[in-house]
Amino acid sequence: MNLEGMVALVTGGGRGIGAATALRLAREGAAVAVADMDLEPAQEVADKVSAQGGRALALSCDVRFPGPVEQMVRETVEKLGRLDALVTCAGVLRDNLVHKMSEEDWDLVIDTHLKGSFLCSQAAQRVMVPQRSGKMVLISSTSALGNRGQANYSAAKMGIQGLARTLAIELGRYNINVNVVAPGFIETRMTMQTAERMGVDFEGFKEAVAAATPIPRVGVPDDVAGTIAFLVGPDASYISGQTLYVRGGP
Ligand code: NAP
Repeated sequence: MNLEGMVALVTGGGRGIGAATALRLAREGAAVAVADMDLEPAQEVADKVSAQGGRALALSCDVRFPGPVEQMVRETVEKLGRLDALVTCAGVLRDNLVHKMSEEDWDLVIDTHLKGSFLCSQAAQRVMVPQRSGKMVLISSTSALGNRGQANYSAAKMGIQGLARTLAIELGRYNINVNVVAPGFIETRMTMQTAERMGVDFEGFKEAVAAATPIPRVGVPDDVAGTIAFLVGPDASYISGQTLYVRGGP
């Protein structure tokens, strides 16, 4: 129970990596605000936390817009009492080769990942600065390093690394740590959708990724959740502005 007494807010918390993170932080003793685009998946995860004996709140919030983001942070503080950790897992993909990528698909991906991370961290620091403590973990990806068909996603995910380094510099004096977790291939609905779009069988896709990975398997959401739990916990209090790749190899 490393996180006893903490309140964490997880965006994209209704599915995949966000859901695993909300459950893991709750198992470590944190009260968790589970936010997602739709209330239903967020509520399901919050109910699981309650069934484990934890404290949780379900919220719906589209992270692309400042009003809902401010409301999400406000409700977290009002209903759970404070805000100690922000984890931004909300995400979408709209892959296409650059010559076929629409402006709409560029904007949606940049707004969800990069602007969403900016809005959430800006709203969270308004609470964390006065309390002189806080942890933020923003989610990037190995695609930040470049990936065919992902100009929008890659730009957003590398932008998140720059955002986090800058926040770490600006907010360190207030005892706020800002780090990035950059997963490789993690088995979630997002990677299933990628296989579908590519017209490949998901099991075959996973086998090919595993064969090309030094630790020869694909990742699971708990691999990422455990890393996030470490970064928001007391053992990581002197780590800030770092990007940690969780991808089974260098
Ligand atoms: P996921 O299972 O698809 O979960 C993403 C969640 O974010 C969904 O519940 C989705 O809601 C929600 N969301 C989308 N747009 C939103 C918005 N504007 N506001 C609030 N919530 C929104 O995906 P995942 O694989 O867990 O991904 C979580 C994070 O890890 C993402 O940032 C992703 O880019 C990153 N990541 C994933 C992998 C991987 O291999 N899976 C690798 C590297 C990085 P809807 O269901 O309504 O769309």
